[in-house]
Amino acid sequence: MTALAVMASLLATTKSLDLAGHLRALGAPRAAQRLDGGPPPVAPTPFTVDASKVHLVADAAAAAAFSADVGSASAIALDCEWRPDGPGEDHAVALAQVATKSNVWLVDFVDISGPARITALDALTNALQSQHTSIVAFSIAADVSKLSSVLPNFAQATRVVDLATSSDGLAAAVRRWLPMYHLDKAQQRSDWALRPLSPAQVAYAAADAAVLLPLLDAMRAGGAAPSERDVAPAPRTSTDSDAAEPDDDGALAVARAVVARTPGCSIVAADAMPADAVEVNALAVEAGDRKLLVVAEAGKRLDLKWLALALDTPRRRVRLSSRCVEAFGVAPHRVPPIALRDDVSVVATPALLASTRPLWGSAGGDGYRVVFEDGAALARVASPLPDPALYYATLDEALDAYGGGNAPTTSSGAVRLAAGATGRRVMLDASLVACARRLRMIGVDCAVAGEVLRKEATPRRPLDGCDRVHVIASKVDTDLRRAALEGRLVVVASSRKRAPGACYVVRGTTPDQQFDELLDVLGERGAVATWGSRCGICNGCDWHTLAPEAVVGEAPQGVLADATEFYRCGVCGQLFWPGAKYEDTMATLRGLALTKAVSSVS
Ligand SMILES: [Zn+2]
Repeated sequence: MTALAVMASLLATTKSLDLAGHLRALGAPRAAQRLDGGPPPVAPTPFTVDASKVHLVADAAAAAAFSADVGSASAIALDCEWRPDGPGEDHAVALAQVATKSNVWLVDFVDISGPARITALDALTNALQSQHTSIVAFSIAADVSKLSSVLPNFAQATRVVDLATSSDGLAAAVRRWLPMYHLDKAQQRSDWALRPLSPAQVAYAAADAAVLLPLLDAMRAGGAAPSERDVAPAPRTSTDSDAAEPDDDGALAVARAVVARTPGCSIVAADAMPADAVEVNALAVEAGDRKLLVVAEAGKRLDLKWLALALDTPRRRVRLSSRCVEAFGVAPHRVPPIALRDDVSVVATPALLASTRPLWGSAGGDGYRVVFEDGAALARVASPLPDPALYYATLDEALDAYGGGNAPTTSSGAVRLAAGATGRRVMLDASLVACARRLRMIGVDCAVAGEVLRKEATPRRPLDGCDRVHVIASKVDTDLRRAALEGRLVVVASSRKRAPGACYVVRGTTPDQQFDELLDVLGERGAVATWGSRCGICNGCDWHTLAPEAVVGEAPQGVLADATEFYRCGVCGQLFWPGAKYEDTMATLRGLALTKAVSSVS
């Protein structure tokens, strides 16, 4: 290796290490690791429990099996669920999830009765108080207090290892200690007193308890496991108001009236639901001065940052309503997918509006459900939201899915292209327009914020070349917002404030530096060598090949004599021909890309 090559190699290495550091600072550790040369980290998968290991304890046989399993366990993980308590409310515990090494038991306090109830409750009480069994939990204080009012012989939980060691929730603890897993908390505030429990609730309940055992192992391995202690229930501050029989707040009657004038919508008894019906959740949301019901598939997490973008309202002004009864006319956990008040509007995700199956949600009261016969019926009362699946919450998510012509590679191979990736779509801020033209020429779908086609020529601005487009400053922010919703990776110059959604802040200050940097970030370095082009002027991808005769009077005389083919952009109308100018530009782009590629290899 010559001294020059060594220099080039060192420079290239230093540069890519810098870029990796920059990506980490922007919150994209996976993309950074790809540049570092490390193996690509695997995206976290949802933590789930095999359904065959999850048992509902609601009858004598299940109670006996539960009793035998927990009686011999050296450690159990415990979590409890109840209907969410509002101010002044104290709902009874509806479910206790107990995980052993091989099973997850869901003790159903609502449905279990008679001798089976006694068996199950005794087994749970004994396990909680046994000196032979340690109890793994996360924030156990509230669980213990709730349990003390249903377990008659329960005094205190002994040998408790409470894994809540900071103000972080369970999902955050899983992210930190079990980074290969993701814990979905979407069902956390669903109605745990309703029966039957939905499959999503059962899966959530089982996972929430079962994850505690591997979490303890991981914390032990990291030297962060808390020690055992005993936990007694706190003295109760309010009288027992049993959650199983909530007061009728009149919402069901209002829902009946609304449904009566809504075609394709009906109220049916909970035990007479269509078998193929899909459950939906309606969330009461306040966005600025607007009151909205956001209807989404049950169990799907709703990103409020995305929702704020979709509603074009600043994030700080969008929140889940804490005034459900006053503002929406129904208790928080029983919001139906129809508006009970005239000043409330309904929005829904496109997947639900396209559903061919019936959709059901709460009817505002127990024992009944609101059912839409299909998505089209819901569409009569709900406006469409953008597709949340297109939105990337983080730069890493966007870069994982980007999948350029030459996806980010390392010595260990190409990075997996995420399912449903829309790939190779970016939007550059208006100040990066010169860099955008370079990216278009190598085939990247590269929109520029605020850029529009100029409609008419003026004496000083003929409709030709780059003057065919111009940037409307007032359109820039709207375009950046739309780009985030459509899943375009947004790239801004460092001088500008961060854009919404997944956003890369480019460090280079000249168009060539910016282009070179984005080739690495987007994994497009290989695309420069392949012939593939969009219109550099307008980002169009609609080429018309023309013979010389067709462009007489338009193409310069000298060119007409030499060129055999011309290309017209079907979007902006610009005429192109192969020749010195195009070749020069591509040669420059290739030169930029190859210098780097060669020096990286050497
Ligand atoms: Zn064009």
